[in-house]
Amino acid sequence: MSKQALLIDYEFCSDCHTCEVACKMEHGFPEGDANGIKVYEVGPWHIEGDKWQLVYMPVPTDMCDLCADRTAKGKLPACVHSCYTGCMTYGTVEELQPQMEKKTRQALFVPEQ
Ligand code: SF4
Ligand code: SF4
Repeated sequence: MSKQALLIDYEFCSDCHTCEVACKMEHGFPEGDANGIKVYEVGPWHIEGDKWQLVYMPVPTDMCDLCADRTAKGKLPACVHSCYTGCMTYGTVEELQPQMEKKTRQALFVPEQ
């Protein structure tokens, strides 16, 4: 059976942390670090000349169950539903793989299911 996954286009993540809030609320995680997703900042680093590296990378944690209760009802995972930039996509690995070939700065996560 095909595995479900999250495709994250981190070029367009704005570091708003809405996905973290949505995940915490959906699952009732306690205050603190416990969450199904964390947004990390990579950089800023000077590469050369006027080129710098600064990206925000949302990473599902081992607490992510891909919102099994929601998706069983045909809903999108809470983080995907709430991401206003639309930089997160939910689907099977087979569905998402062609999207990965269309552009750079994307990451495919396949949480434990
Ligand atoms: S993935 Fe979406 S909701 Fe999460 S921090 Fe990035 S832009 Fe915000
Ligand atoms: S899919 Fe659900 S459990 Fe996983 S990070 Fe997103 S909101 Fe949290």
